[in-house]
Amino acid sequence: MPAEHPTPPQSRPRRTTRITLATLAAVAIATAAAFALTYEPPPPPLPPLEVTWTPAEPTQGHLFLIRVAAPPDSGAISATGEAGGETLRFHATNSTLESFAPVPISSTDSIDAWVRATYPDGRTQTDTLRIPVAAGTYEHERLTVAPRFGSPPNEEDQARLARDREKAAQVARDAHAAPRLWSPAMVMPRPSRVTSEFGTGREFNGQISSRHMGLDLQGLTGDTVVAAADGVVALVDGFLLAGNIVYLNHGGGLVSGYFHLTEQLVEAGDTVTAGTPIGRVGATGRVTGPHLHWVVRYGTTSVDPRSLLALVR
Ligand SMILES: [Zn+2]
Repeated sequence: MPAEHPTPPQSRPRRTTRITLATLAAVAIATAAAFALTYEPPPPPLPPLEVTWTPAEPTQGHLFLIRVAAPPDSGAISATGEAGGETLRFHATNSTLESFAPVPISSTDSIDAWVRATYPDGRTQTDTLRIPVAAGTYEHERLTVAPRFGSPPNEEDQARLARDREKAAQVARDAHAAPRLWSPAMVMPRPSRVTSEFGTGREFNGQISSRHMGLDLQGLTGDTVVAAADGVVALVDGFLLAGNIVYLNHGGGLVSGYFHLTEQLVEAGDTVTAGTPIGRVGATGRVTGPHLHWVVRYGTTSVDPRSLLALVR
């Protein structure tokens, strides 16, 4: 290097370099420290979602149970989902979350469902299911009733039917909104024989075809009708076809109904337990004689009431 070109003074740049290096080192140390303090390893992968149902092949028009395994180490705290067109309402038991689910009587050989579990850290896991369905055996019968009920309803009756349907739909919404109120101690609302099966196809006066969406239990006018399960009285009313009715809200989506009563012994809002007298057998509404028409629904989907008793026993 030529002598006439002295090397530039080095003190300043050197100091600058030193400060820069020191700053970088400090920043690096601070970053490392901060990283060490805030770094969390990624959470362990969630265990596979374990969804089962009972029975393995539920029948058309029956109620069944869907369960999500929630053993203490899985940490699943809640679950939601849908099956048979209805929202599932899971209830925590020992090591599972369980919900009733309906198989609509009109379903084909399977129904679609999905279940989503939520874990304490906010993560969720979703499973879609195709549940195989067993065919139900439903017969067909012809009935003759008063002409008023055998022909298509007039405008006034249509308005009444729409009002009745909306009131029943509100009971279904209330049952979906309420936590489970029932306990496994369920009973037949009457200790008598079945006079007409659930699901039977019906032809009224050869004109109107429908299905019998309840279970008829033998009874004479005045015989006692009791609540099938614990719950709250949701509706006491007079319906066009069902006559004097009592609807019970059992929570967790479950509803029961008692039709054609001659007398209602409870009021809306009353708490009942399985076996509480709620009415008396009658022949109000569209009937051919006194009997109890017993309805069980999950939401608005009617199921064979005996499939409920079979599940909880
Ligand atoms: Zn009936």
